[in-house]
Amino acid sequence: MKVLVINAGSSSLKYQLLDTAANNVMAKGLCERIGIDGVLTHTGNKSEEKYTIHTPMGTHSEAIKAVIDILLDPEKGVISSMSEIDAVGHRVVHGGEFFSDSCIITEKVIKAIEDCVPLAPLHNPPNLIGIRACQEVMGPNVPMVAVFDTAFHQTMPQAHYMYAIPYEYYTKYKIRRYGFHGTSHKYVSQQAAEMLGRPLEDLKLITCHLGNGSSICAINRGKSYDTSMGFTPLDGLPMGTRAGNLDPAIIEFLAENEKLSAAQVITILNKKSGMLGISGVSSDFRDLDTAINEGNARATLAKDMFNLSVKKIIGSYIAEMGGVDAIIFTAGVGENDRSVRWDVCEHMEYLGIKIDPEKNKYRGKQMDISIDYARVRVLVIPTNEELMIAKDTERLVKEMAK
Ligand code: ADP
Repeated sequence: MKVLVINAGSSSLKYQLLDTAANNVMAKGLCERIGIDGVLTHTGNKSEEKYTIHTPMGTHSEAIKAVIDILLDPEKGVISSMSEIDAVGHRVVHGGEFFSDSCIITEKVIKAIEDCVPLAPLHNPPNLIGIRACQEVMGPNVPMVAVFDTAFHQTMPQAHYMYAIPYEYYTKYKIRRYGFHGTSHKYVSQQAAEMLGRPLEDLKLITCHLGNGSSICAINRGKSYDTSMGFTPLDGLPMGTRAGNLDPAIIEFLAENEKLSAAQVITILNKKSGMLGISGVSSDFRDLDTAINEGNARATLAKDMFNLSVKKIIGSYIAEMGGVDAIIFTAGVGENDRSVRWDVCEHMEYLGIKIDPEKNKYRGKQMDISIDYARVRVLVIPTNEELMIAKDTERLVKEMAK
């Protein structure tokens, strides 16, 4: 099945056309500066050449039209008719408590995504615009599926997702831990089960999605059991620019002393904290490594804090699940940064966790990096959220056709 995967942001739109039978990316690209002028960067599999096209994109509909045009282009494109696109899979950030799986998009589903806007005011509106734009350009006969970042985590037990604030705030505002990166955690857990040659239902896994945004998930017998991001992606680990969890009293203290509003403090916690805030150098782990090699103590401190937080969460999830069969590292940092993997797993031999330093030298490659005799396997698995979205889309469209 040929599935167009769409990830729509406020002024950008990422796309991939995947052939699910061959797990093959036929073409991919990015529309930027939507509503300003419009730039499209496109790569098709006929040639590896990257095209940059300046074309007016006043709206997301115009961006989708530009995507379809380039996919159909005799030279740069990969299909000869729009009817070759069997379905569209849309990434949607927040599905609240409505969605515990991906689903075929209907008017009722759109309404529920709208109802989740207060929970994700920056993300759900552009996701909705992307859905509407595709419907407008592609017509009503192409099935569309919404794949939610939060859905995978809906299996968490209540004691794991509640915050200990008055219960009425949960009933009134649905304040609770939702968790994000669900598509990635789900994808790598399935890959891990395949690598281990065991059914997912028999496994206790801890998946570490460590990128610019980072979260960890305890996956107990195939189901999300706990996760580090919370009501918003600000909770949990310190990240590129996010603070992660902290004593909430700091917010009022900073607001008063720095003469800031609560919203301004939250912006600082989202955009100026984490690795950037501590190091004063960068949010990018590669820049931190360069600074560390030059003897920068604050860059070292930032990375030490990150590694410690990952270790603490892994430890707590092992305690919650009563053991672990495999720990999985994924995303930009998890796939590439060997020092993070090494420091996180150091001194955990007593739990059966021991990395092989030779195997740990590889990066960006799916492999088992644990020492042969280790009881717990440590795996590096490159994530592929677009493929997971395409596979979910295919599954639901086929179910609908039955
Ligand atoms: P996101 O999808 O959250 O934007 P990614 O998963 O692409 O993030 O991860 C981006 C981060 O991965 C970069 O900020 C960088 O710090 C890190 N990264 C990428 N390549 C490497 C590498 N070779 N070594 C260390 N860190 C890397």
